Amino acid sequence: MRALRLQDWRSTPELIEVPDPTPGPGQVVVRIGGAGACHSDLHLMEEFEPGTMPWNPPFTLGHENAGWVHALGDGVTGLSVGQPVAVFGAWGCGTCARCRVGVDTYCENPSGAPVPSGGGGLGLDGGMAEFELVPDSRHVVPLPEGLDPADAAPLTDAGLTPYHAIRRSWPKLPPGSTAVVIGVGGLGHVGVQILKATTAARVLAVDNRPEALRLAEECGADRTVNSGPSAAEEIRQATGGRGADVVLDFVGTDATLALGVATARTVGDLTIVGLGGGTLAVSFFSVPYEVSIATTYWGSRPELVEVLDLGARGLIRPTTTHFALEDALDAYRQMRDGTLEGRAVIVP
Ligand code: NAD
Ligand code: ZN
Repeated sequence: MRALRLQDWRSTPELIEVPDPTPGPGQVVVRIGGAGACHSDLHLMEEFEPGTMPWNPPFTLGHENAGWVHALGDGVTGLSVGQPVAVFGAWGCGTCARCRVGVDTYCENPSGAPVPSGGGGLGLDGGMAEFELVPDSRHVVPLPEGLDPADAAPLTDAGLTPYHAIRRSWPKLPPGSTAVVIGVGGLGHVGVQILKATTAARVLAVDNRPEALRLAEECGADRTVNSGPSAAEEIRQATGGRGADVVLDFVGTDATLALGVATARTVGDLTIVGLGGGTLAVSFFSVPYEVSIATTYWGSRPELVEVLDLGARGLIRPTTTHFALEDALDAYRQMRDGTLEGRAVIVP
């Protein structure tokens, strides 16, 4: 089969021929119906270097996947060939306290995982290929009726990651509250939809691209704000001077982290999702009182089931552009250039 492989750090991925995978005991091969292109892949191919992660290339890219069960290894029950499924992408040890409740993202026994702190497309072969080998059938999540694999794929990261980040802040988002979404790309535009579908908060969306702000409006944002020198003041004014109860930063640069601090309300949450490489100096008087600052990584398997339910019921609907496998590099180019709207999905 053909696969888009990252052969080395700081290199352009290559579409090459590799052997079709076959499932061992407990494993599943998924025929890929859609593989989302994530900005994290750009970080992988352009910025990461040996030692950044506990794993190294080569591997097939694509950590946001859905498709159909193609082959089942010995002992796998509860799945059938041809069944539409999503792939939960973080693959932990399966036995530690975190993995047992489906939080493989924070596996506490990484040496017992198929790859430490990674998964398919992150150290092991992912879904930018015709087939993906999933090393444990518990990572294969049946799709609810009404959800096509190409539409489900972006929900496994561009949906799941903002969902996890928002869900933990639900108690701070009652009627009368405000949420700010910084960066309305693949993750951020679904983040706006999730906020509208699961909370009563007013949603302000920030980006530096007019097309992204237009997309935010289509996704239900109550107000859009051009990032720039006056953004903090505009958000402060829009919240009656109080600031936002929850700020979700899907960029993570110095500038956006500073915007987050400048616009967070006392006792609010500032949640950093983007890997923009920025830093934040925290001292007693430099951040609003009782603001909780956290990074979040992806989401849990139970949360993926909830996100798929939102998708199947049409309550969230990622804006996607489809690319053939041979055009995958074009998708990444458009993402880098800021000409992509929503999420690119590779359909092999
Ligand atoms: P994307 O390229 O689709 O979207 C990024 C958006 O941010 C774009 O709309 C861009 O215009 C906007 N932006 C850039 N600079 C900005 C600024 N200064 N102010 C306002 N907006 C700005 O990327 P994506 O796939 O949505 O990923 C976003 C980030 O999240 C990346 O850094 C990615 O690596 C990271 N990520 C993190 C996790 C996690 O688990 N924490 C998971 C997936 C992706
Ligand atoms: Zn574990």
